[in-house]
Amino acid sequence: MSLKTGFLYDESYFWHDTGNGAICLPPGGWIEADEHGESPKSKRRVKNLLERSGFIDELEIIKPRAATREEIEMNHTPAYVEKVKQLSDTTGGDAGDLAIVGTGSYEIALLSAGGAITGVDAVMEGKVQNIYALTRPPGHHAEKDKGMGFCLFNNVAIAAKYAKKKYGLKRIMILDWDVHHGNGTESAFYDDPEVLFVSIHQELNFPPERGFAEDVGVQDGEGFNVNIPLPAGTGNAGYLYALEKIVAPIADEFKPELILVSAGQDPSVFDPLAQMIVTADGFGKIAAFVKSIAERHCEGRLVVCHEGGYSPGYVPFCTLRIIEALSGLQSKVTEDPFYPAIKGLPSDILAPHQKESIEEVIKIQSKFWKMEAKAQV
Ligand SMILES: [Zn+2]
Repeated sequence: MSLKTGFLYDESYFWHDTGNGAICLPPGGWIEADEHGESPKSKRRVKNLLERSGFIDELEIIKPRAATREEIEMNHTPAYVEKVKQLSDTTGGDAGDLAIVGTGSYEIALLSAGGAITGVDAVMEGKVQNIYALTRPPGHHAEKDKGMGFCLFNNVAIAAKYAKKKYGLKRIMILDWDVHHGNGTESAFYDDPEVLFVSIHQELNFPPERGFAEDVGVQDGEGFNVNIPLPAGTGNAGYLYALEKIVAPIADEFKPELILVSAGQDPSVFDPLAQMIVTADGFGKIAAFVKSIAERHCEGRLVVCHEGGYSPGYVPFCTLRIIEALSGLQSKVTEDPFYPAIKGLPSDILAPHQKESIEEVIKIQSKFWKMEAKAQV
């Protein structure tokens, strides 16, 4: 009997309180209080859709444990961890740059990082074939000594460091398809050749000064950092082209022993914090592609952790398609209910300027990896 796909969540994830900002900013001045963009809604609705569709019964439910303080401090300074705890124990506040800590958020952030760790254990111990962890708060922007962009502790970076230590892994690949650059994860492994970090993101979005194709790592880590900035308006075709022409050949040469994904569903066509046009079916194809890399190199060991995604209506459908792809099964939700509203968009067309951006990355990365470097004219 083949193993199921795991689904990890905890009710506490939906209790992390980001306050009453609007889109990404706190209220004040001309900004009227609203529900903050990083609210529990889009994530809770993922779990709700899995339940309502019955698809949750096809999955192995895994509960997270809390990360220990020592585990968090594998990636963060003790002073920063203490700052988050103090804010969480008192009035709440900002732990850096748009990194909102609510009352009690510290314990929930430990459980979020612990969710990524639990996912690694579940996959490494062969309890599940792969796993989707609905981690919240997200993590990929969090730097060593400060929170950033709604992220408190860097769940995926902590999980990778844990996997290196616990299982002695020497080749971990992290793919970050969140529409924003995974700056915190990049920083964590910038000089580390044992962790290959690949970020596909919207160019010049957030953080605006990070994520350039020329940023390839330093010292021994040179060549093990792969930034794929794509122009606004890129859809399914651009993402799949980048996966096929850049990510697959690099992964085939690197031969990962474990793949971690920072899964932000904010390249979606309905996202208020980015301008890409990936559809739910596109996310399914992206996930299937990554699963095939994991099956080629590491017996399918794949841990997918939720990051951003700010369209409460659409994120559940995108995430459902990802989880279907991971499991190889199809839910009863056979059609994307939003498709009629988006079918006129050129999501499945690779525009010349999108292709050029990808070929620019190929040119840079072909110094380190066996790739077809010649730009097509
Ligand atoms: Zn994001």
